[in-house]
Amino acid sequence: MKSVGFIGWRGMVGSVLMKRMKEENDFLNIRAIFFSTSQSGQAIPSIKNVSNKELQDAYNLELLKEMDIIITCQGSSYTENIYPKLRKTGWSGYWIDASSSLRMHNDSIIVLDPVNSKLIYKSINQGIKTFVGGNCTVSLMLMSLGGLFATELIEWISVSTYQAASGAGARHIIELLKQMGMLYNICSKDLFNDSSILDIEHKVTEVSRSPNFPIDYFSAPLAGSLIPWIDKKMSNGQSREEWKGQSETNKILGLNNQVIIDGLCVRISSLRCHSQSFLIKLKKDLSLDMIKDILKNHNDWIDIIANNPKDTISKLTPSAVTGTLNIPLGRLRKLNMGKRYLSAFTVGDQLLWGAAEPLRRMLNILIAI
Ligand code: NAP
Repeated sequence: MKSVGFIGWRGMVGSVLMKRMKEENDFLNIRAIFFSTSQSGQAIPSIKNVSNKELQDAYNLELLKEMDIIITCQGSSYTENIYPKLRKTGWSGYWIDASSSLRMHNDSIIVLDPVNSKLIYKSINQGIKTFVGGNCTVSLMLMSLGGLFATELIEWISVSTYQAASGAGARHIIELLKQMGMLYNICSKDLFNDSSILDIEHKVTEVSRSPNFPIDYFSAPLAGSLIPWIDKKMSNGQSREEWKGQSETNKILGLNNQVIIDGLCVRISSLRCHSQSFLIKLKKDLSLDMIKDILKNHNDWIDIIANNPKDTISKLTPSAVTGTLNIPLGRLRKLNMGKRYLSAFTVGDQLLWGAAEPLRRMLNILIAI
């Protein structure tokens, strides 16, 4: 039985990974050892088929070296600190990572097996040992538009994202909820008497601008607002999140002729699930029915949503999709720009297909070889 070390298992991505592994009985096939950067020595939550009960120190290289596989959802700083040191000791185990730091390395593969399983198996045979989950919006875009990518029908995509607070981690979602609580508390009595709506809005806006409004993590109010910037600035003016769209997509697909992808990434105050609006230029004019067939035949999770108000508002929202592996894709129509221009909108749980699920499936691929 392979020894698998888990790091970052209590964060947003890690908790979802644990939940999915329990649901699928994955702990039956491995010897799981849990590590922590902050709680070593404490007890781990009870998990069926896990016998090691104590949290180990995530900085203990001697212990980490004993693992056949390490799966980390701890984040980039941890990876940047520990991964090079561990490899330097000669450790040749498999490293599976949710963070972005190793994604573009030459000796790593970005994993999303419904899209790039051939590349994954080829790289295992070639001795690649580092497998990294993709950026959440990139993975969700590929799960939704996979059919058009696989048939090489896309000339370019312009994308606008609407990304949930939980995409930034556990502390951010707590901060958003605190912000929402403050907004509600300031006007809760006014909502049940005949207060003027402009007075209510004014009170809410004032409190969101006050110095005691909690913005430690987002650096700006998100509740009742949005933030049109995610991650660092690149030299060309893109945010790093926007840069990942084209660079990671082409790496996942193993393409030499790059598909052009660009757009704007925006943080919104949904709790979980990232949504994306696509403007796609196709290489040829196909009927909408043909396009839908190509899209729906790509994988088992995609769900084509009819382009009408009832289906859209009941099936194509974060609240409908949260906690599911469904990849609904709707608002499909040809645009006024011409017959090769297609619009589409998708919502996906960024903690499932956008993070934990490709890692869980990669672990199972490695367990099975
Ligand atoms: P996170 O929720 O901030 O968790 C990371 C670590 O923070 C935890 O393992 C835990 O480490 C510590 N932590 C501190 N306070 C915590 C609290 N109140 N609750 C839980 N954990 C707390 O980060 P994440 O969102 O899971 O992201 C992990 C990595 O995955 C990042 O590199 C991120 O970029 C990437 N990723 C995230 C998403 C997403 O949607 N969130 C999607 C794709 C990729 P200790 O137990 O060691 O203290």
